[in-house]
Amino acid sequence: MKKISIENLVFATSNKYKVAEVNQLLENITIKSLTEIGCTEDVPETSDTIKGNAIQKAEYVYKHYNVNCFSEDTGLEIDSLNGAPGIYAARYAGPERDSQANIDLVLNNLNNNLNRKARFRTVIALVIDGTILSFEGIAEGHIANEMQGEGGFGYDPIFIPEGEERTFAQMSANEKNKISHRAKALKKLVEYLKA
Ligand code: IMP
Repeated sequence: MKKISIENLVFATSNKYKVAEVNQLLENITIKSLTEIGCTEDVPETSDTIKGNAIQKAEYVYKHYNVNCFSEDTGLEIDSLNGAPGIYAARYAGPERDSQANIDLVLNNLNNNLNRKARFRTVIALVIDGTILSFEGIAEGHIANEMQGEGGFGYDPIFIPEGEERTFAQMSANEKNKISHRAKALKKLVEYLKA
């Protein structure tokens, strides 16, 4: 098997929270950001699946910048909302990508529904020398009745992971990183790269 260099792998995202989480998780592996390779345009994500979006973003950066890279896409699936917001998590309440508006809409739509089961699903797509691989991570949990906590980002203040009583936003970055969807997918990526 060909030895893959994990130095200077590009992380194809412009989300600074994701960069911070991934940097913390990768410890001594250095990743490059899109800005560092001069990519400032919006990377297209027009697929109707999480995996499709992750692959589209990684392939775009590989093709246009000729660098090995990985990207990730995350969706929030709420059972009693028929899987919504799903891949539309960022724009659930509109194109402004307003996290507070998204949270308000979820809480309104659940409207005291007792079935609040939900999960975050992350797919990481890796493109190495033109070969595409994907790694999935899931965090099962439920939606809280109200917002709690100041940490994290996105839907963290209303997501309580399985086995916990606190939301992701009430946990330290370290605690979230031990059990999150992104951490699980990333662990698989790192295991593959180090193999
Ligand atoms: P995307 O993967 O950037 O498209 O993110 C989809 C949406 O899910 C965005 O609104 C994010 O804020 C939200 N999201 C992604 N990851 C997390 C997370 O770890 N916690 C809370 N919300 C997240």
